[in-house]
Amino acid sequence: MICMLSITPEKYSEIQRSTRSELETTIQTEWPDTKNECPYEVRQYFDSRDQLSVLDSIVYKGSRIVIPPSMHKDMLNLLHKSHLGIVKSKSRAREIMYWPAMNADIEQAVNNCSSCAEYQKQQNREPLMPTPTPDLPYSRVGTDLFEFEGKKYLILVDYYSKYIDAVQLRSETTAAIIEAMKTVFACHGLPGILRSDNGPQFSSATFKNFCAEHGIEHERSSPHFQSANGEAERAVQTVKHLWMKCEDKQLALLDYRTTPLENIQLSPAQILMGRRPRNTLPASQDLLKPITHDLRKVKQHLNAQKAKQKFYYDRRNVKELSPLENGTTVRIETPGSKSLSSGENPQDEEDDPIEDSCFNESAIENAATPLVRDIPANHSNALQTRSGRIVKPPVKLNL
Ligand SMILES: [Zn+2]
Repeated sequence: MICMLSITPEKYSEIQRSTRSELETTIQTEWPDTKNECPYEVRQYFDSRDQLSVLDSIVYKGSRIVIPPSMHKDMLNLLHKSHLGIVKSKSRAREIMYWPAMNADIEQAVNNCSSCAEYQKQQNREPLMPTPTPDLPYSRVGTDLFEFEGKKYLILVDYYSKYIDAVQLRSETTAAIIEAMKTVFACHGLPGILRSDNGPQFSSATFKNFCAEHGIEHERSSPHFQSANGEAERAVQTVKHLWMKCEDKQLALLDYRTTPLENIQLSPAQILMGRRPRNTLPASQDLLKPITHDLRKVKQHLNAQKAKQKFYYDRRNVKELSPLENGTTVRIETPGSKSLSSGENPQDEEDDPIEDSCFNESAIENAATPLVRDIPANHSNALQTRSGRIVKPPVKLNL
């Protein structure tokens, strides 16, 4: 049975206090036969009544903590602290906490986030360069260098788990890169294959010796294929998108690593190390216990995603964008601007590029065409989507 939560004593008492005043008694009271006989405030818990239990003044639905209403806002802030997209924010929440309408609340919180709106990823297309699916964690690792806010970083990404490390470099020399790599390898072990581009540091004799001495097979991408090092390049985009919106770089990375990847419900950390590292969200001790995942499941997942990716990529030119829902705000990229000028619904494609390109066909579909194509001359204040529907722009854009 769950008896503790991985949170500070203060947060624990806060959940207890709020639960006591808002939920506990009603949920512990015997349930009436029908929903309509329930007191109004617990009616929405009626359908899950068989899964609810109270322990130490905290209500659980299975292993998930039932968050009392007064703390929803607090939890939404925590969930979206690293500005992950709707899909990721929901899957983070789904495995550890519960309240009725939680999903809708998360959607609304992400849609209303101004940082996310400002840095909405522009839709672009990446050439498809399939690589063999690895059989084990950290057997094939991609690396690259990147610059962020004037500082140089080394990135390492595991092809299997999508686990990312980004280490700040003291300089751009081969020695500094090796030093940074050794720190990461001391944590995850030595990769079997290390893939990089043909940058001078990776082409040097010193680097060649380093790999040979450590039994690492170094694979360099062909200079003729721009994206032959795609996995590392996507990881760079992922990290940049995370960091643009967050003050704490390391916490943002922790959030990425501990958030389940789409369609497999395992986070990069779980796939790589078989456990959920603790993050800032409350989670029952049960969920933090190490668990071996099914290697075949991961492999199947990676293969399925690859096949799906190819399918959508190959037919991208005829693929239509999904129709917009009524009331969806449309965001338009104006020529020359780097950001989008008003509230588009940040859906799955707003999630990190690694998931977009490897785990989510919608990014590939959407990548083929801009979101909004035409502004018909006879509808000066309206926009037409690809499906032909007229969408009124927000007043702000009604120039
Ligand atoms: Zn955000």
